[in-house]
Amino acid sequence: MKTESLISIKTVQEIEVLRKAGKILSSIIRELTCSLKSGMTTQAIDDVAMNLIESHGVEAAFKGYRGFPGAVCVSVNQQVVHGVPGPRLILEGDLVSIDIGIIYQKYYSDTAVTVGIGKIKPKLQRLLEVTRAALYKGIAQAKVGNHLSDISAAVQGHVEAQGLSVVRDFVGHGIGQKLHEPPEIPNFGLPHRGPVLKEGMVFAIEPMVNLGTWQTKILADGWTVETADGQHSAHFEHTIAVAANGPEILTENGSI
Ligand code: MG
Repeated sequence: MKTESLISIKTVQEIEVLRKAGKILSSIIRELTCSLKSGMTTQAIDDVAMNLIESHGVEAAFKGYRGFPGAVCVSVNQQVVHGVPGPRLILEGDLVSIDIGIIYQKYYSDTAVTVGIGKIKPKLQRLLEVTRAALYKGIAQAKVGNHLSDISAAVQGHVEAQGLSVVRDFVGHGIGQKLHEPPEIPNFGLPHRGPVLKEGMVFAIEPMVNLGTWQTKILADGWTVETADGQHSAHFEHTIAVAANGPEILTENGSI
């Protein structure tokens, strides 16, 4: 099948580099999320991220990507993804999504997490928990012999069973020597469709989940994606490898 042949199969050596990249990215995101507090601007978050990226001797994958100005995407509350760092202040009760990518020895790693600042409303806490769980439900399907859309269906099934919605307009992706490689990995769809998964495939799986409608809009800055109804959104992402004995989470950070 055509789509199948477009999905690159990584060698053992390449997986080893991607594993190292994922480990570095995991420590960066851990340190970055620990530094978040109310009163910070989203630009300050980007500055902390850039310092961490440089101190680990890797490159910021997003900086300059299609002209994106930041090292990280910082999306607050009703913002879904691709928030541009700037003067906006982070406040107690906010949800802050951070999406971060690095390049290590020519290979990319990509992860995202959403955190609450201080005390957040129970419905927002639930949004975080459902989105995180949906990511892990999707990852669990990333095994040899499954179809690609088994990942999509598992994410959608979990989210909609909880009465929340999955974003359609933005999807996960293959990753390796490029940030975005085939295939696209939607967070919705029927199971048992699309390419059969093979050992050595590496994916960034990234559910974006909304409290209200799944529909989104792009702001005038050309980047920031918001929910169409202004309700909150959350985003979690891991880079994973399809291994012989099941999915291996390359960006596992132990705390998020
Ligand atoms: Mg991604």
